[in-house]
Amino acid sequence: MVRVRGLTKRYGTVPVLNGIDLDVLRGEVTCVIGPSGSGKSTLLRCLNHLERIDAGTVEIDGRLIGHRRRNGKLHELKESAIARRRADIGMVFQSFHLFPHLTVLENLVEAPTAVRKLSRQDAERTAGDLLERVGLAGRQDAYPRHLSGGQQQRIAIARALAMEPKLMLFDEPTSALDPELVGEVLDVMRDLAASGMTMVVVTHEMAFARQAADTVVLLDSGEVVESGPPEQVLVDPREARTREFLARVL
Ligand code: ATP
Ligand code: MG
Repeated sequence: MVRVRGLTKRYGTVPVLNGIDLDVLRGEVTCVIGPSGSGKSTLLRCLNHLERIDAGTVEIDGRLIGHRRRNGKLHELKESAIARRRADIGMVFQSFHLFPHLTVLENLVEAPTAVRKLSRQDAERTAGDLLERVGLAGRQDAYPRHLSGGQQQRIAIARALAMEPKLMLFDEPTSALDPELVGEVLDVMRDLAASGMTMVVVTHEMAFARQAADTVVLLDSGEVVESGPPEQVLVDPREARTREFLARVL
């Protein structure tokens, strides 16, 4: 589903990602962990080409996300073409980014009607199903400011799912939440994983990574230090840098 090879990204002359290789199989959950500034958010943003990459390739479902290949060379696609490929990828951020002036329902039907050209009726039906799925049935007329952070984040997840993505990217979706609200968001993400969604999750929640991940990737200084099943990377790591990181966060 996701195939990254030699991904290199610099900001100006500062290298941020140094030749990342990453594979995410369909239906699997990959958790990306690592110290602050190691390039986790940048990696996620490169997966849907919110960042231009300096070298390497990112393929989603067998297609290059930001480029096309002609005569063996890569050419960057126009923004409109990138946007079409990006429509298959849902993204959820640390801060919820809901439209504050729209109700929950309007937040959920906006993109499906505008971008996917769903009828209002179909979009509302889907929105109702999604609200139920994230445990917020009946809150469709609320405005985001009237919801807790955990509820807003669950709406943000529902809004991403309303586009029927093939892949979901999460960038520290629980870091901005009060501790007592973290669990309800992780529960929604666990359900989503169990339903077979392919997910890449940047997280500091080691217990979630341990339970929900098929693969854990430790990033440090823009490199993949170690990658493998959670029982290996989190419990019996091979690399000294992984052990040092875990000693600090566990
Ligand atoms: P955190 O855990 O704090 O979220 P991170 O692992 O997500 O960190 P990134 O946000 O990907 O790290 O940043 C990686 C490096 O790139 C950092 O050194 C950061 O300062 C730098 N960086 C990120 N965005 C930009 C930008 N737009 N311009 C210049 N440098 C940037
Ligand atoms: Mg980050």
